Amino acid sequence: MVNYGFAIDNRKCIGCHACTVACKSEHDVPVGVNRTHVKYIETGVYPNSSREFSVHRCNHCEDAPCTTICPTSALNTRSDGIVDFDDERCIGCKSCMQACPYDALYIDPNNGTAAKCNYCAHRIENSYEPACVIVCPVEAIVSGDLHDPESNLSVLLAENETTVRKPEANTIPNVYYLDTSEDMLNPNATEATGSYMWSEQAAGVGHFAKYADQRLGASDSHSMLVQLALEMKAKDAAPRDAAIIRDVAQKLQDTSPKAKRAYDAPSKGILWGWEVSAYIWTKAVAAGTYMVAMIAWLAGYLDMADLWWPVIGIGIGFLALTGLLLVKDLDRPERFLYVLLRPNFSSWLVKGAVIISGFGGILALTTLVLIFDLDQNLLIYLAYIGIPFACLTGIYTAWLFQQAKARSWSKDKMLVWKFLFETTAIGSAVVMILIGNAIMILFAAIVLAIFAYHGHHVVQKPQIESII
Ligand code: SF4
Ligand code: SF4
Repeated sequence: MVNYGFAIDNRKCIGCHACTVACKSEHDVPVGVNRTHVKYIETGVYPNSSREFSVHRCNHCEDAPCTTICPTSALNTRSDGIVDFDDERCIGCKSCMQACPYDALYIDPNNGTAAKCNYCAHRIENSYEPACVIVCPVEAIVSGDLHDPESNLSVLLAENETTVRKPEANTIPNVYYLDTSEDMLNPNATEATGSYMWSEQAAGVGHFAKYADQRLGASDSHSMLVQLALEMKAKDAAPRDAAIIRDVAQKLQDTSPKAKRAYDAPSKGILWGWEVSAYIWTKAVAAGTYMVAMIAWLAGYLDMADLWWPVIGIGIGFLALTGLLLVKDLDRPERFLYVLLRPNFSSWLVKGAVIISGFGGILALTTLVLIFDLDQNLLIYLAYIGIPFACLTGIYTAWLFQQAKARSWSKDKMLVWKFLFETTAIGSAVVMILIGNAIMILFAAIVLAIFAYHGHHVVQKPQIESII
């Protein structure tokens, strides 16, 4: 069975970006996003300084977390080892970007779907090599079949010491590097200084092109544009002024001997914004209120006579709000039903959608029992089925976050318990508002506000940190 991979030979790469340009041309990749890019790092202080180049792209991992989390199988591993994507299935949920430890994916600003290097699968199928391999002037990119011991790639790998990016992520990458450094491969080894062109995006992927236009007119002091402008000015200035300008330009540069990132792909900013933290909160209100009220009722601590409609109303209302927020966060919201119609059951987004649908069904059946005044024992049976559904509705996001392997959420072993605590606390606060006096209502409102603020922080912070 064929298993395609790449070798990136850093002994040869001259950092010319021909591969990036060939890829952009082959796949019509828009401004601000890349399927492959050349990272530069610099070490030392002039004149004892050096610059290293390395090509970064999708690693076509054998155990790819992006395919596991993708709810619609838009990302999939072909039988020849290529991790490909189908933009007809993609709903733009950005989960794959949270899962890829190599920051290899982007959302295409033109069509709102995920994209990345697909090994030029269309060329491979016609017996051509990928565009980047063809164009590289020094043959620093080698493609081939890793399972064929006679292939150029296998021979190169057999004869040289190689390494892969982040072996500790256990993704089994199929892109091998010759003669590279830890500083180059490990994104945490160098800081993203913001000193290279377009190193930050304003607000996540898909907004970059607009931001780039704005920055053209108003660069800040960390921008490479300032460096370039100062250099231009120094050329035309009188010798005395030129010296002052060069002095300013030099001060803007980092003179630390530590390796620094001189050029890289732009940061993609916050991928899951306020909609995601808000939906976690609304979901906890819907599920927690029902769960706490039903447990207290079945245990004999709560008289539900006047509470059925408020509890079920809050459940249905906040669950509907949760659905709206989930859909709003998608870059292709009109495709939201693909989660249920084209499901990938290994994704917790799909399992979560099934759980939410089940919980919604219990709330709907309870409503019917109340409207038609049916046998009250039915409410007890529904509560016994509904409590586990409500509990799972509150906590399934913890398992989704744990599939997001590129973020620190995935390392948090207590995440499920934290979500359970949050759901219970929020549910208790809402029940307190329904039955309590003014003091209890005030206390409950503060609890709800704290969890809303805390949830926002929990969702955003790992997305600002370096990808792990
Ligand atoms: S996890 Fe990232 S690098 Fe690995 S196959 Fe998916 S997109 Fe490519
Ligand atoms: S559906 Fe979501 S996870 Fe799948 S490719 Fe599209 S953005 Fe990525």
